[in-house]
Parts: sequence; structure tokens; C-alpha cells
Amino acid sequence: MTIRACVIGWPVEHSRSPLIHGYWLERHGIDGSYTKQAVAPDELAEFLAVLATHGFAGANVTVPHKEAALALADEADDAARAIGAVNTLWIDNGALHASNTDAYGFLANLDEAAPGWDDTKCAALVLGAGGAARAVLHGLLGRGFDEIRLVNRTQARAEALAAHFAGSVRVFEWQDRGAQLKGCGLVVNATTLGMSGESPLEIDLAGAEQTCVVSDLVYSPLKTKLLSSAEALGLRTAEGLGMLLHQAAPGFEKWFGVRPEVTSELRALVSADLEGS
Ligand code: NAP
Repeated sequence: MTIRACVIGWPVEHSRSPLIHGYWLERHGIDGSYTKQAVAPDELAEFLAVLATHGFAGANVTVPHKEAALALADEADDAARAIGAVNTLWIDNGALHASNTDAYGFLANLDEAAPGWDDTKCAALVLGAGGAARAVLHGLLGRGFDEIRLVNRTQARAEALAAHFAGSVRVFEWQDRGAQLKGCGLVVNATTLGMSGESPLEIDLAGAEQTCVVSDLVYSPLKTKLLSSAEALGLRTAEGLGMLLHQAAPGFEKWFGVRPEVTSELRALVSADLEGS
């Protein structure tokens, strides 16, 4: 019997998830399908209630449903609860289970792109205070980082986020982001700055330690100005595309029963698609 999964969003046309899961289904010779489902906000509860009767083993969830889906799930894991949003759903024994795999994807990408990046657990600087930053903070705290510096254009949002994670996250002013690089082993762009059509993220990396790893969550374009500047200074980098690919793997395993790999072939496939859009 064909196993079915989907990505739910509104709109959903932009999603690269079908490309990623379609590649893995073919590579593993699985009788499965992965489709896009445009579900309006006022239809989400009904759609999730009948997910299994529609023949779906589970789903990815994208904007604007990530918070609402958490509230509608029967069971949510630690990551989903700590991040306050979900991106992966699966049915188990008739119950709707929810997780958020963004923190996993963020960490797995760094492990692959910059092995040993977390050996010293020195300070990390995180820019942004939206949903992606929440996942990054959850991931870094889980890896034992106990000095996280957080900056955001709207400082009150950063303060609310720091309060949510209590203790190890300290907020600094947005204009001091360059100065806060001192002593950091990692800097993460979790803002939308640098995305195609947006202004680049302006930060003077000259003040960064030579061992600092620069991670950008933005994946369109594949190489942001931030990453190019870091490379020019000889710093190690982690691109947003790697996070996008790694965060997809746990869901595929839940629905189709095989843990897939992020291969260079998959990377090339999705890169080409992003570059062509
Ligand atoms: P979000 O919730 O909308 O948050 C946007 C963040 O960007 C906020 O911190 C916002 O600051 C900041 N920002 C927006 N415009 C700005 C400007 N002109 N100057 C300074 N800061 C600005 O978005 P999100 O879901 O967290 O996503 C953030 C980025 O991560 C996006 O580029 C997204 O594509 C990427 N992402 C990538 C992956 C991946 O797998 N690679 C996964 C998730 C997200 P304010 O609070 O001041 O508005």
C-alpha cells in the first residue's frame, strides 16, 4: 500500500519539501508519495482531524500553521513544546504526534559543515528573535552552551525570548552586534536579512575570533553576503540549505521507516531548484 505524506501550508507552493522527500522515496525505492496540501487557517483543525482517514501517515507543517498545529496535536515532544511550534506530524496508534526538527537540523548541519564547532562551548551570538531563533536557542542550550548573546532589531522580542529560555541567554542591543562577536565561537543569522529581496545583514566580522563559525539560516540565496564575507576572512561557515535538508530527515523516517541521508546529490538537486527560482 502506498504510504502518503504531505506538507501543509497557506500558501504552500514555495515549499521544497516535495523535492527533498521525492528524492529520498526514489533513492530508497519506497512505494510512497509526498504532496503539497494548501490548507487555509480556518480549515486546519478539520484537515488534521481527518489526516489518517485521508490516508496520510503524517505531514510537515509550514507557515502559518506551525503554532496552531502544536495546539491541535495529541502529543508533542520536548522540542515542539520548548520551541512553541511544530514542523513535523505523524500518526501513531490513532494519535497525532508533533515535533519540531529545526533545532536538530540546525545542529546536524553545523556538525557536518564545521566538525568540532561545539567542542569548546564558548559564547555564541544569535541574531533574530523569531521562530527560527527559538529553534536555534533550543538547540544550543541542548548542546550545553551556557553563554548565548541574543540581539534583535526589536529588543523587546529578544527579551521575551530570553525570558522564555531563562538563565543562559543575555540580550544586547542590535547596534552592538559587531562588538558582541568578541569571544564567540559561533555567530548565527536567524533574521530574514540576506534573503533574496531583503537587505543584507550588516555586521563587521573583522572583530570575530579566527575560530568563529558563521552560520546563516537563509538559504535563498544559497550564499549570502554574510557567508561570503566570512569565507573571505578564512572563517568556517554553515549554509542554510544544509539545515533545510537535515530537518527533513526525522519526518521521512517516521512516515516511511527509513532514515535518509543528506547526500551531495540531494544538495545539488535542491540548489539547482533554488537557483532556478
Ligand atoms: P520570523 O519569525 O518572521 O522572524 C524574522 C526575524 O528577522 C525577526 O527577528 C526580525 O526582527 C528580523 N528582521 C526582519 N527584518 C529585519 C530588518 N530589516 N532588520 C533587522 N532584523 C530584521 O522569521 P523566522 O521564521 O524566524 O525565519 C528567519 C529566517 O530563517 C528566514 O530567512 C527563514 O527562511 C530562515 N529559516 C531557515 C530554515 C532552514 O532550514 N534553513 C528554517 C527556518 C527558518 P524583528 O523582531 O525586529 O521584526
